Amino acid sequence: MAGDELQCPSCGGVQRGQERFCEQCGMPLVLGGAREEPLPIERHARRIKPQYSEGPLVKVASAPNQAQAEFIAGLLLAEGIPSMLRRSASFDVPEALVGGARDVLVPRSGAQAASEALTWERPSPADGGGEDP
Ligand SMILES: [Zn+2]
Repeated sequence: MAGDELQCPSCGGVQRGQERFCEQCGMPLVLGGAREEPLPIERHARRIKPQYSEGPLVKVASAPNQAQAEFIAGLLLAEGIPSMLRRSASFDVPEALVGGARDVLVPRSGAQAASEALTWERPSPADGGGEDP
């Protein structure tokens, strides 16, 4: 049965048998080892939800440094949202290559979920609004 394994190009899951699509994300499976050059997003794409990985990248957050940006990216990934980090252009100071600010970008389809995932300290809106007339 060698060479009978199919691998998901999105989450890396290996499927056996007659499955042609990943049962996790529905991506068409490819033969193991036949992956094409991965997109940067896929470096840590293990739990990404495909519905959050469509559309052009939009900025959903900014961080003062790479570590903070990666922390945010981790929060997003926990929600299944892929993200990319990009140095903020406005902080393009040569001596601040390591410490410069970062923008956190996500696909447009994941932007809404991303902003919800990042508002962890949002005060809950008044839910005791009383009865409507
Ligand atoms: Zn998959």
